[in-house]
Amino acid sequence: MPPVTVLRAPRLIDGTGAAPVENAVVVIENGVVVGAGSARDLNIPTGAVVQPFDYPDCTLLPGLIDCHTHLVFSASDHALEDAINDPDETLLLRGLGNAQAELRCGVTTLRDCGGRGFLTVALRDAINRRLVTGPRILAAAMPITTTGGHLNFCGLEADGVLEVVKATRRLCKGGVDFIKVMATGGGMTPGTNSRAPQFTVEELAAIVAEARRLGGRHVAAHCHATQGIRNAVEAGIRTIEHCSWLHPTDGLEFDPRTVERMVEKGTYVSLTMGSERAAIKPADQLADWQRRAVDGYGPHFDLLRKTIRGGVRFIASSDAGVSRTFFDEYPLTLEVMVSLLDISPMEALRATTGRAAEALGISDRVGALVPGRRGDVAVVEGDPLADIRAMRRVRAVFRDGRAVVEGGMLG
Ligand SMILES: [Zn+2]
Repeated sequence: MPPVTVLRAPRLIDGTGAAPVENAVVVIENGVVVGAGSARDLNIPTGAVVQPFDYPDCTLLPGLIDCHTHLVFSASDHALEDAINDPDETLLLRGLGNAQAELRCGVTTLRDCGGRGFLTVALRDAINRRLVTGPRILAAAMPITTTGGHLNFCGLEADGVLEVVKATRRLCKGGVDFIKVMATGGGMTPGTNSRAPQFTVEELAAIVAEARRLGGRHVAAHCHATQGIRNAVEAGIRTIEHCSWLHPTDGLEFDPRTVERMVEKGTYVSLTMGSERAAIKPADQLADWQRRAVDGYGPHFDLLRKTIRGGVRFIASSDAGVSRTFFDEYPLTLEVMVSLLDISPMEALRATTGRAAEALGISDRVGALVPGRRGDVAVVEGDPLADIRAMRRVRAVFRDGRAVVEGGMLG
């Protein structure tokens, strides 16, 4: 008889957007959900093969998905220097520690949006082989960037259509799950311009086509500048990371037509609420540069709200790893979405479960507690629909039906 895990709690939110179920049970057999819903409607197995878990004051959720991390980055005030100077061995061990920190937050799947070399591929494989405990990882390995471009120290510079196609082939050969491209400059890399595109539509479209040809892989694009967002959307990029709407010289520049194009083309916006978490933290926990950044966030949040109101599908992500964006603070990502972007708790939870899985192309496996998906479960104390801060109180985490976190500790 196969081992069976039975979880019970007063509440279940299944990740599809459906109303919560009371007096809930989730049944996992051989790592796969075979039943999830009200205890009244389910055949609940009993006997020696059943491992029961009761959580009388908790909510059962699908394991969370963080759609944007940098596992090998340190999140310290010197994240750039650490990423450039630390040896591979340090980066790999740091990556494992960071992945486990996310797991303790209930994140059972994360998409790593760029690190040095192929380290995140090795980390993914070690976790899959159960050499170490961690979340599922979708790895991009090195982001494709221009010569001297954003995160060029990761190791993959390419200029022009031929070179970006070759870079895409090199990444696929190395076993990446998706491609990350830096469509604009970024704040972490001195000498780049966040307000200007790095690649043309033609170059981005060539990456999209080659990634699709080589196993139907998706492409995620880092986009701060409005023109970079436009280029990425027209090129058929699957997920727009950050979506910061920066004007070419100063301030912000919202483009409603680009929002319409995102809706038409089914583009997802990945709301990397990482450094933005500073806006909901006590001021005495912030560095001076963070306090200054928070003062300027109002217009940025306004435009993200407008983007969302335009009907674009959004997903949750942290950008953890860049300076002061810590891996163990994933719940704050959801709190920023609810308190500053006017997103309901239910929609925030969907953005980190069912819709995130759909955007990442893995909704056949994870993202919802429905029969046929993997038995990944986050158990939180209280009711996150009543108060999203409940997501800070993770009681247990299951991966493939196996308890991997209990009482905040790795199982
Ligand atoms: Zn990033």
